[in-house]
Amino acid sequence: MSNRRRPLRGNAYVTGYLNSPVWFARRDRWFATHAHTGNPLCCAACGETAAAGELELHHLEYTGVILDGGWRARERHGDLVPLHPPCHELLHRLIERDRVLSHNRPRRAASELALARLHAKLTEGGVA
Ligand SMILES: [Zn+2]
Ligand SMILES: [Zn+2]
Repeated sequence: MSNRRRPLRGNAYVTGYLNSPVWFARRDRWFATHAHTGNPLCCAACGETAAAGELELHHLEYTGVILDGGWRARERHGDLVPLHPPCHELLHRLIERDRVLSHNRPRRAASELALARLHAKLTEGGVA
């Protein structure tokens, strides 16, 4: 399965889910759960602290997303990673540009490798 963003975005399955009230509620629950940990909320790519409204959630796994007469948001907390919209875009571009990441790694592994690279670049003050 490919991790490239364009086919994913064009995929009615994912697009439909990410525009559904079920996902918006899951997203709110993710931020509420995080708030309970007492840990500062920060972007996983650049490491800057941010408010919930400033962050998107990237899916490391879509295995918890189920269509069963309606959407079921069964993602585990650890399946979702908070990112600024531009950092999120950079992450997808990094995966897309890398043939190994986009074609030869499961989504979670590809995301984690790309995120580690992006984090290293952004926190060094370099350009990803
Ligand atoms: Zn960021
Ligand atoms: Zn994403």
